[in-house]
Amino acid sequence: MNTQQYMEQLETLDIRMSSLTYTSALMGWDSMTLASKKGVDARSSVIGNMSELFFTSLINDEVKEMLDYLTEHKSELDETIAAKVRLYLKDYNEIMKIPKDEYAAYQALISKSNLAWEEAREKNDFSIFAPYLDQVLKAKKKFVKYRGYEGHPYNTLLDDYEDGLTVEAADEFFSNLKAKIVPLVKRIQAKEAPKNAFLDLTYDISKQKEYSKYMMEVLNFRMDCGCLAESAHPFTMNLSREDVRITTKFYEKDLLSSISSTIHETGHALYEQNISPDFGVSILTSGTSMGIHESQSRLYENNFGRSLPFWHKHYGRLQDLYPEQLGNISVEDFQKSLNTVKPSLIRIDADEVTYPLHVMVRYEMEKMIMSDDVNVDELPRLWNDKYEEYLGVRPETDSDGILQDVHWSEGLFGYFPSYALGSAYASQFEFYMRKDIDVDALLASGDMAPILKWLSEKIHVYGSSKIPSEIIEGATGEKFNPKYFVDYLETKYSAIYDL
Ligand code: ZN
Repeated sequence: MNTQQYMEQLETLDIRMSSLTYTSALMGWDSMTLASKKGVDARSSVIGNMSELFFTSLINDEVKEMLDYLTEHKSELDETIAAKVRLYLKDYNEIMKIPKDEYAAYQALISKSNLAWEEAREKNDFSIFAPYLDQVLKAKKKFVKYRGYEGHPYNTLLDDYEDGLTVEAADEFFSNLKAKIVPLVKRIQAKEAPKNAFLDLTYDISKQKEYSKYMMEVLNFRMDCGCLAESAHPFTMNLSREDVRITTKFYEKDLLSSISSTIHETGHALYEQNISPDFGVSILTSGTSMGIHESQSRLYENNFGRSLPFWHKHYGRLQDLYPEQLGNISVEDFQKSLNTVKPSLIRIDADEVTYPLHVMVRYEMEKMIMSDDVNVDELPRLWNDKYEEYLGVRPETDSDGILQDVHWSEGLFGYFPSYALGSAYASQFEFYMRKDIDVDALLASGDMAPILKWLSEKIHVYGSSKIPSEIIEGATGEKFNPKYFVDYLETKYSAIYDL
């Protein structure tokens, strides 16, 4: 076989694997939104079979020979093909070390574990979820042993979501953030809190839905290439750049929750909708890492969506929907309330200053779980202790504590740190974007297109063809530097709280 023939084999593999990924994603979407709970057994069995198909399509001698050949002949490949080889080789090496039957059993377990988590959370009873979490953790630790690791066993999982991230680097990142954020929170808490009484009022859900759709349009979400649905935990599902779906959750007594989660998920969706069409159905048609993905959602949610210029443009529309509740509230007071800093229990409702501390709790617990023998029954208490230590608040129920996030039920360990990295990346991108375009003027005018264009050209278009460090250096001309995030927080909150 020659290079041309191996490249054709790679294309065939890419289309087959991407079709399987697409189908699994669609099933995932379905089980998180509309699927019946009673259908779980059949669904789990289909998911198990699908994942076996995924496994056998990738893990075989022909694929190995092709990937090895193309890696050796890298100089003959164009960038797109080389990126595909890199990604499939990573997947191959990740999966080949796990026995096939264990891999399929794990996929089926995840589907059941997710349902158990949902029930446990609803009933506020960790014991419903505990046996599943125990099995997921055992499988995860076993897989890490199969896959191997350098340094800390958690490194293997961190690298799954952010290329090259290690416990050493994450420890340094979090300790820096902690050193800056904890004193900032104290300075803010010494000041008078924004007057938020209007947020305790009732906000009709059908109008919230209307406003969420308005937000998606304003932010240039292509409405004919996706949709908005509801789920317990808001998320984005990308099938292709022409079919990107987001979910949110509406609460009558919490207007800001649906607004911020809709903007957040739209930020994720814009990334997916603006990947180069040249990639087609491919492993490259997806954001490059969780951290870069979060940078896009957080840039829209926090840096833009909680700024005064943005609300100067869009607040009137919200007031029109809720004249009784918001008629007498000024845009300045509304924006201040959007940026209320208050240590709290729930990560997804946390303000952007205390948010990294929520992530730190999870990071430290995962790090410990991966290196020590842990009795799952002790995890809720450990969780509560850490909240008390870092945030000064202690959950009284499991639903407000360890059961709040879906991630562990899906086996997503190593994922959380990327949320905090995302905020830090976002501020670095924004700093450099402001050198090129007048961001405040655009936010105030409602013309978000030049902002999306900047992000699309420098980040989105590449999909997974570049690794995170290449994206960051390409867009900003320097390596990742968390200083931009700390500067952003200090400047922004000094103004809002008159520090
Ligand atoms: Zn997100």
